[in-house]
Amino acid sequence: MKPAQFQYHRPTSAAEAVELAAELEEAEFMAGNQSLGIVMSNRLATPANIVDLSRVDELDFVEVDEDTVRVGALTTHRSISQSDALAEHVPMLPAAAEQIAGPSVRNRGTLGGSLGEADPAGNYPAALVALDGDITLRGPDGTRTTSARDFFIAYMFTDMTEAELIESVSVPREPFPPDRTGMAFDELKRAAQTWPTISAGASVRVDDPDADEPTIEDARLALANAADVPLHVPDAEAAVEGEPLSEATLDEVGAAAREAADPSEEMHADREFKLDVAAEYSRRALETAYGRACGTGGGAA
Ligand SMILES: Cc1cc2nc3c(=O)[nH]c(=O)nc-3n(C[C@H](O)[C@H](O)[C@H](O)COP(=O)(O)OP(=O)(O)OC[C@H]3O[C@@H](n4cnc5c(N)ncnc54)[C@H](O)[C@@H]3O)c2cc1C
Repeated sequence: MKPAQFQYHRPTSAAEAVELAAELEEAEFMAGNQSLGIVMSNRLATPANIVDLSRVDELDFVEVDEDTVRVGALTTHRSISQSDALAEHVPMLPAAAEQIAGPSVRNRGTLGGSLGEADPAGNYPAALVALDGDITLRGPDGTRTTSARDFFIAYMFTDMTEAELIESVSVPREPFPPDRTGMAFDELKRAAQTWPTISAGASVRVDDPDADEPTIEDARLALANAADVPLHVPDAEAAVEGEPLSEATLDEVGAAAREAADPSEEMHADREFKLDVAAEYSRRALETAYGRACGTGGGAA
């Protein structure tokens, strides 16, 4: 099938894009068109107006300042996966990016498109919820910033109005000093270019990587495709904080993830299987992050 007829608009600034979206009937932003194109071709979406963001160059950036790491909404999965600055300061984002689909989707698909799509199986939504990042939106009345943990409200539904544009995301630097922090984004998928069955994004900061058994000061964990929204698992974080990682605390992590998850059944994975995977990948991601924080690549004591 082909998309229904629409009018095409190509602004060159974020301000112009928002203005167009506010004044046009049934307008939809288009970024990399890796998801929107599919739903429009199947006529599951029939917007009267498309506002193509691909020339809004101001939204394609990675910036590290004293307090935060910021990434523009138009930054592609490929650019994120290859960013040295992100690899140094927020390695969960490149790890999440490089596992999205195949090269053609990664070359065109963008951070903002993934957040706008708000699929609970999406890689960045889970990563940003784990990192407690912020999302900056621009609307007709100006910009506002919201926490990623508040942004995803229900299945593919966000705290964003139709004329609002995702401009950027930011992650604070202070909780994640690179010399004492490890991150991981681990996913189980049936085939390289499909969506994951479950993914786990984890971060661990230790007190002293050179100690015999470094203590975990700060842990972060969120799961993708384990519920209707990207799922933060604070009980798993609490289970490992304040002591070195051990098999006992990892068992608590698995139990907490199982308890928090409420996955939908899929053709290839029933609910019980997804609960098992949520528990196992939560353990793995935190164990990998701990090994990286300790500089050993190793796991639990
Ligand atoms: C085969 C395949 C496998 C995939 N596997 C994965 C996977 O494993 N993990 C994963 O995370 N993703 C996966 N994806 C999804 C892919 O990452 C998305 O297609 C992509 O992230 C969407 O980005 P886009 O730039 O193409 O957005 P578009 O398709 O252009 O837009 C998607 C939606 O977001 C809105 N939007 C776009 N930009 C903005 C903005 N700046 N502000 C507000 N709204 C905006 C659009 O209006 C639209 O509703 C897969 C896709 C395909 C086709």
